[in-house]
Amino acid sequence: MGITAADVRAWIEDYATAIGEHRAELVQLDTAIGDGDHGTNMDRGMRAALEQLAKVGDDDVGALLKSVGMSLISKVGGAAGPLYGTLFMRMATATAGKPELDLGEWAEAVAAGVAGVQQRGKAEAGDKTMVDSLLPALDALRSAQSEGAELADALRRSADAARDGMLATVPMQARKGRASYLGPRSVDHQDPGATSSELLLRTAAERFGG
Ligand code: ADP
Ligand code: MG
Repeated sequence: MGITAADVRAWIEDYATAIGEHRAELVQLDTAIGDGDHGTNMDRGMRAALEQLAKVGDDDVGALLKSVGMSLISKVGGAAGPLYGTLFMRMATATAGKPELDLGEWAEAVAAGVAGVQQRGKAEAGDKTMVDSLLPALDALRSAQSEGAELADALRRSADAARDGMLATVPMQARKGRASYLGPRSVDHQDPGATSSELLLRTAAERFGG
């Protein structure tokens, strides 16, 4: 069983719900090492994305993802809006015209999205950003795929890797974004963007792996 466009729509809805549920936590994390707006930024962006999504049909995964990317870019300021916008836009390009994705196509889409985030934000692994959840998730997807894992298993492994990556940001010193201005005082805090990215992979595993 693959990932249909209807599944992708449901995942985006799940992600918007998860962001709403974790809004206060994301604000709290960003208050500690940033300016406290990550939860409200992402919540505003995903609400706008849901409104636009209603105008898109269920026959093209790329069209759904593009709609989300454009909403995030136009509605969310700060660092994360354009970065998440780029993630979704690149995933959209990788899946344009496809009514359904298999594991390999999902992995390719995630790879394109993460590459876009890194091109735009210049963050590497260990810089204490969303990349620290996304890159391990991508690596786990690729290893699962090369081992011939089932879709549900591969997705679970990528969500687990994102979770480990998110938790690994706690002892890191930030080298990118607002948190980097704090220098060593950014240590001992979980990165807000790594946390919202973990939610993205977790909701994908729950929705597509069921
Ligand atoms: P802002 O920092 O502008 O207030 P947000 O609070 O919405 O934006 O998002 C902060 C998150 O953005 C950080 O926790 C981090 O994960 C991510 N981030 C910031 N700069 C970069 C970057 N250059 N590359 C990747 N992610 C980044
Ligand atoms: Mg912020």
